[in-house]
Amino acid sequence: MGTVANTQAVRAEARSAELRARDPEVAGILDAEAERRRTTLQLIAAENFTSPAVLAALASPLADKYAEGYPGNRFHGGCAYADLAERTAVDRATALFGAAHANVQPHSGSAAVLAAYAALLRPGDAVLALGLAFGGHLTHGSPANFSGRWFRFTGYGVDAESGLLDYEQVRALARATRPKAVVCGSIAYPRHIDYAAFREIADDVGAYLIVDAAHPIGLVAGGAAPSPVPYADVVCATTHKVLRGPRGGMLLCGEELAERVDRAVFPFTQGGAPMNVVAAKAVAFGEAATPGYAAYARRTVANARALAAGLAAEGLHVSTGGTDTHLITADPAPLGGLDGRAARDLLGAAGMVLDTSALPHDGRGIRLGTAAVTTLGMGEEEARTIASLVGRALRGDVDGARAGARELAEAFPPPYP
Ligand SMILES: *Cc1c(COP(=O)(O)O)cnc(C)c1O
Repeated sequence: MGTVANTQAVRAEARSAELRARDPEVAGILDAEAERRRTTLQLIAAENFTSPAVLAALASPLADKYAEGYPGNRFHGGCAYADLAERTAVDRATALFGAAHANVQPHSGSAAVLAAYAALLRPGDAVLALGLAFGGHLTHGSPANFSGRWFRFTGYGVDAESGLLDYEQVRALARATRPKAVVCGSIAYPRHIDYAAFREIADDVGAYLIVDAAHPIGLVAGGAAPSPVPYADVVCATTHKVLRGPRGGMLLCGEELAERVDRAVFPFTQGGAPMNVVAAKAVAFGEAATPGYAAYARRTVANARALAAGLAAEGLHVSTGGTDTHLITADPAPLGGLDGRAARDLLGAAGMVLDTSALPHDGRGIRLGTAAVTTLGMGEEEARTIASLVGRALRGDVDGARAGARELAEAFPPPYP
């Protein structure tokens, strides 16, 4: 075991030495990024740290393999091991999520949503989704995205006061617009979504239910959030957010839609999938089936709750009063009138890397997530420290906060080989 690990470490070292020798310019950029991630706190809700095993699969010879089609039915020769990798990823995904069918080829979360629409809709169809101003994703009807151009989207919202989804509004809009599909899922909603309620609303108007679970799917894998799989016609997901795998997308559905979903991915919207990424997805699904992963998922939520409580104690207005997930949105305005963009830039200067976000009552706030810092081993005590560092920076002590953020980050180094 030790010898194998040593050999792998030696090989990884040899590969980076090779890059340094052949291309010092790009090697320098990669080193600087590693240093940035080592010395700042990664609080972007969509990011994480993949394991050395996932990175090893990404840097494997399957990176060079073309394998258009599906296992046993490829357009290219030499696909025996590509087939094994994809079958392993599909088997692990269906077991992990209790789904009849999985497609692990989508290049990204957006590509998964595109394929779900391609499987179920025709251009011009009416679709109901969370409005972008309330935390809907670009693929949920943005005029800048194919979705807004090719379908007729109506947006539902969240309650301005509570920040919570208003299921009666969703039902009323569904009855008024008779959509072909109802979409639920968000880039900013911190609470569990009532998938049974959405199923009932979709059934009421004869619509498909598409759940875009890009964020919470990693909590679902660890048993720390309710699963959309029993309710949705199609579940779209990413593999790189809380789920901690390689960058990419995934689709889950029942047997009756399996063929349509597969054809919507290839050949309708994609060519060959990157088979090293497919192998890395298999590795991530394997990791996500372990008790250690379930503990990580639970800790991620506990840390987010501690961070949300800490931010509220610092005087920020936390949307919905807290979180059920890894994700928090908050309005920094009560602390000196900063808007989301100014707060994000100030916190970035203080070594805390996070995003801006839509807020329930209009305007922009900040969005934070705890998956990445939880992967590094941080707990609720560190979450409270982060909240106090956020407060310190927003009250103007950027240098003090920067020193504190750096000290905390360096105490929990990334797992890079
Ligand atoms: C992240 C996300 C996506 C898109 O994922 P990409 O891999 O960036 O394309 C789609 N929908 C939701 C709800 C997301 O959070």
